[in-house]
Amino acid sequence: MAVKTFKRGVHLPERKDATAGKPYEHVSSPKQAVIPINQHFGAPNKSLVAVGDKVRRGQKIADAVNPGPMTVPVHASISGVVKKIEPRTQSNNLEGLCVVIEAAEVEGGDDFMPPLDAFSCTKDEALARIREAGLVGMGGAGFPVHIKLNPPPNKPIDLVILDGAECEPYLTTDEAAIRRNPALLIEGLCIIMKITGVKRAVIGMEDNKASLVPVLEDAIKESTRGFDITVELLKSKYPQGGEKMLITAITGKQVPSGGLPMDTGCIVQNVGTAIAIAEAFQLGKPLIERGLTVSGGACKTPKNIYAPIGTLISDLPPEFMDIDYEKLRKIIFGGPMMGSAVPSINIPIQKNTSGIILMTAKETAEFAETPCIRCGRCIRTCACWLSPVMINIGLNSDDMDGAVKAGLLDCIECGSCAFVCPARIKLVQRFRVGKQRFRAQQAAQAKK
Ligand code: SF4
Ligand code: SF4
Repeated sequence: MAVKTFKRGVHLPERKDATAGKPYEHVSSPKQAVIPINQHFGAPNKSLVAVGDKVRRGQKIADAVNPGPMTVPVHASISGVVKKIEPRTQSNNLEGLCVVIEAAEVEGGDDFMPPLDAFSCTKDEALARIREAGLVGMGGAGFPVHIKLNPPPNKPIDLVILDGAECEPYLTTDEAAIRRNPALLIEGLCIIMKITGVKRAVIGMEDNKASLVPVLEDAIKESTRGFDITVELLKSKYPQGGEKMLITAITGKQVPSGGLPMDTGCIVQNVGTAIAIAEAFQLGKPLIERGLTVSGGACKTPKNIYAPIGTLISDLPPEFMDIDYEKLRKIIFGGPMMGSAVPSINIPIQKNTSGIILMTAKETAEFAETPCIRCGRCIRTCACWLSPVMINIGLNSDDMDGAVKAGLLDCIECGSCAFVCPARIKLVQRFRVGKQRFRAQQAAQAKK
């Protein structure tokens, strides 16, 4: 099978050996769940429950004040009693309102929706089911799935790409998701294709997962409901799992500056999201648990786990998360390139938590910044063809127009430029703050 790729990018140490090939181990109900009521990109939710309420697993506990398009509800991941509703630190390091549920037997069992046949219901019914199931992209950004699957009529889509690239070091949860139930994954992909009316799909994986090709091809042979589904291997190179890189590698097209995947006729979804979609229809199950990788040099139990949303790291039993505190220097939610470092172990697993990486001093290797030597390595590495050095100069000199012209808003925050920078300049952190400054400036101008 030919291996496809994109231009530029970096080869990172993969560090996946400790968990590669390991199936998910299920975390049974923890003693509590701390569930952030806002876990999506869009309008904020309000709590639908009060302290003292009994809630059932799967019950909706938060939704938008005015449920509009960019809203996604949140559900109880365990049955129990609401003990607190209070701000807690979330995996993005911001304080956010959380519903704290203490585990307890509650009459009635799970509170799932009735099953729904995705292939006989209307498109509106299917999109409403996906929203009601609280589905967001599980690969990282938390974007509402029902919005992504409903592009405007002037953006015709002809290809669905299922992202199984998993290019971040350490992470092996997509691989475990594919192994867990390839038939369910293909069913979820068929549902995506039914809703979007697209006839062709490609499942893209880095070539370090070549052993999964026959697994997927066997599932495709079983049933594709008449859709054209193929598997493509992609070069193991970072950031191969970025939407723009996947599209370029598979179709040769480039997402235009300021554009979206739909501008190239593509919709990209993560493999874990496809499985969650299938479960929302077949079982009526909302997004209340997920798979993730726990790994890193300070993790004595590297494995892939399947845990209720809202489980705190500190509540994971030692067989799932045994921490070597002597060695621990940094806790990362997500992958080490695009994830966020968190300040403690009292942070909950969220809908977009693909991994928890416990890093040692050697793995994190912090260096002091030195002045830019204008070597151009960051430019030669950027897979989005931006000029990181010029973005940085623009931001440092308060020249926001210059930073935007050099590509600030097209930056996917992959961190490749910072990884290769010999001056160890914290480019990606600057760009994140720069984007926040830009949005604040735009908002202030809009108010004038
Ligand atoms: S890689 Fe670093 S030192 Fe080289 S040009 Fe870019 S910012 Fe400057
Ligand atoms: S400028 Fe942005 S997109 Fe380009 S390498 Fe740096 S972080 Fe990645």
